[in-house]
Amino acid sequence: MIAPAARPARVGVLALQGDVREHVRALRAVGADPMEVRRVSDLDAVDGLVLPGGESTTIGRLLRVFDWLEPLRAAIADGLPVFGSCAGMILLAREVLDAAPGQPLLAGLDVVVRRNAFGRQVDSFEADIDLVGVAGGPVRAVFIRAPWVEKVGDEVEVLGRVGDRIVAVRQDNLLATAFHPELTGDIRIHRMFVDVVTGNRGRQGSVQVRGRA
Ligand code: GLN
Repeated sequence: MIAPAARPARVGVLALQGDVREHVRALRAVGADPMEVRRVSDLDAVDGLVLPGGESTTIGRLLRVFDWLEPLRAAIADGLPVFGSCAGMILLAREVLDAAPGQPLLAGLDVVVRRNAFGRQVDSFEADIDLVGVAGGPVRAVFIRAPWVEKVGDEVEVLGRVGDRIVAVRQDNLLATAFHPELTGDIRIHRMFVDVVTGNRGRQGSVQVRGRA
């Protein structure tokens, strides 16, 4: 008998603000089953979640207003794979320098991030960077008022740098880039994330138990 094909990983994209559609497109291109996530209850339907680029203060405010912060922190603590790009990286960080006053964070990733770090004169730029775990040559990275990572905890793997600045990291199921892979058509980072999601499903079995009410 032929085993039934595994269903594609269902990957949510937090759709409160930011470049949601671009992530959905990239996820579809790597064979995942993307879903725009608008309600907290949608979290139960996804195997992984993307926090898109956009404006971390706006996304953070909406997370607070719509009571997302606690359930999302709990899901991350429970091992939900999350990929944050740019604003998403900021939201995932344990600590943010130059944050807006009272800016809420999810604080799952043991890094200190500096917001808008690359400064005014290079508000936006592109660079080719080699990333650990991404074969096939450097990735074209688009930075838009991007953060960088100033400090990483022991559990955090540095995946890529621009000059001596850390711009891509992974900590177990959490992946974060200061740049926007969703804007270039190069889907290798989304593939890497979906591999994390698929590997995690293998770990958990097909039934997800999040330990949340
Ligand atoms: N500077 C933005 C912030 O603080 C991030 C920019 C982006 O996601 N392109 O949220």
